[in-house]
Amino acid sequence: MAENKPKNDVMEKIVSLAKRRGFVFPGSEIYGGLAGTFDYGPLGVVLKENVERLWLQMFRDDRDDMYGIDSAILMNPKIWEASGHVGSFSDPLMDCKKCKERVRGDKLIEEKLGIEAVVGKSLQEIGEIIKKNKITCPKCGSGDFTEARSFNLMFKTHQGVIENATDLIYLRPETAQGIFINFKNVVQTSRKRIPFGIAQIGKSFRNEITPGNFTYRTREFEQMEIEYFMEPGDKEMVKKTFDEWKKEVFDWFLGLGIKKENLRFREHDQKELSHYSSMTVDVEYKFPFGWGELMGLADRGQFDLTQHETFSKENLKYLDPMTNKQYLPHVIEPSFGVERTILTVLLDAYDEDKVNNEDRVVMRFSPKIAPVTVAILPLMKKPELTKVAEKIYKDLRKKFKVEYDDSGAIGKRYRRQDEIGTPFAITVDYDTLEDKAVTLRDRDSTKQKRVKIEELEEKIEKLLTTP
Ligand code: ATP
Repeated sequence: MAENKPKNDVMEKIVSLAKRRGFVFPGSEIYGGLAGTFDYGPLGVVLKENVERLWLQMFRDDRDDMYGIDSAILMNPKIWEASGHVGSFSDPLMDCKKCKERVRGDKLIEEKLGIEAVVGKSLQEIGEIIKKNKITCPKCGSGDFTEARSFNLMFKTHQGVIENATDLIYLRPETAQGIFINFKNVVQTSRKRIPFGIAQIGKSFRNEITPGNFTYRTREFEQMEIEYFMEPGDKEMVKKTFDEWKKEVFDWFLGLGIKKENLRFREHDQKELSHYSSMTVDVEYKFPFGWGELMGLADRGQFDLTQHETFSKENLKYLDPMTNKQYLPHVIEPSFGVERTILTVLLDAYDEDKVNNEDRVVMRFSPKIAPVTVAILPLMKKPELTKVAEKIYKDLRKKFKVEYDDSGAIGKRYRRQDEIGTPFAITVDYDTLEDKAVTLRDRDSTKQKRVKIEELEEKIEKLLTTP
């Protein structure tokens, strides 16, 4: 993947639309920004909530074998020793001696020679490959770098009023460990038997060396993670469960309306696997800068619970009430990123076409996640029309995300709704006063149908549930 190449056209258009229409703003903008941070605007926050709600519905609420939790961001630092993050959650950092740009040695190699050239390579080997292949600084073109050194990605902070080494704590770099350390609590307080899973959505922080590609790589982001616990020892069962999750996670992206041809699986080869995993498959999206990871599905085995049992000295074994077997469960982890999902949804929905010979930009969001489901547009700002339109607005907002707009020419208002991806627009005109019907316009085809006001709710409901 060619991360951090000059952004191509579509990416630039998305960055600009996201800002112009209130989806995503650069973080701390009025103070000149803060690299690797972004803020969601009024439309972006609803889009994000819709995506997260669907995720919780599919992976937690609609399943009989799932629970949710919401664990703390600040945790006992021993957790990060046990998980391996203190020791090995790092990237190879190099500085360009000429322009002082900081780069990730592995990513420079990956961009030029492909991922195979870099997996499993030591810091020294990374330096050598860069020299041998005359890979240069992406900013100034110089080939003169410092040695590669290991840079831990965890943000550090201090707890309490006195800053000293013993108060050092970390902002969590993943939500997963919050699930593992609560495994025993969940088993003791709930009734499901293994196999079952725990899901949570929450913020994670990584001091990325090279944040970039809009929200693809940020320093503060949200994850939607699941740890699925099963009895260890049965390889076939593990494989079967892994394959079922593989299908589920792919279906999740299709369910968001992402085009199938822009999605693919990529299995990690042996050398690329993380220290805890015996098998990992990523779902990748075809971003404008190349294929990139959207989520990872990892077989973590018994690694984490074994580590936490050793470090905490607590018995974390599960006692099967039916068989009386005691064991540390085998774990499969589907791990999704919210920012990359939202970026994917924005990129995949973006389209340009012509309506009545006029150019239009249209975000073809699935109606299930569009931040506004229905726009109510009185043809003119005349009391006899706005009165009816306001009544429809008040009725429909009980059920759907609705926006009322009575300012400007109707064509311009349609264009705005197309650009924010509103799937349905209702226009109240003078005929409405006679026939108690309105026009219902479909965003994608721009076709309009006359629908009775009293049938609107049912009709929209139906359109939302038809795939
Ligand atoms: P990458 O190789 O791109 O750095 P990763 O393999 O380190 O990603 P994981 O640790 O597997 O990522 O995290 C799970 C998910 O969290 C990723 O698939 C991605 O969607 C999201 N994620 C990870 N790091 C970031 C980041 N810096 N910015 C935004 N999302 C991220």
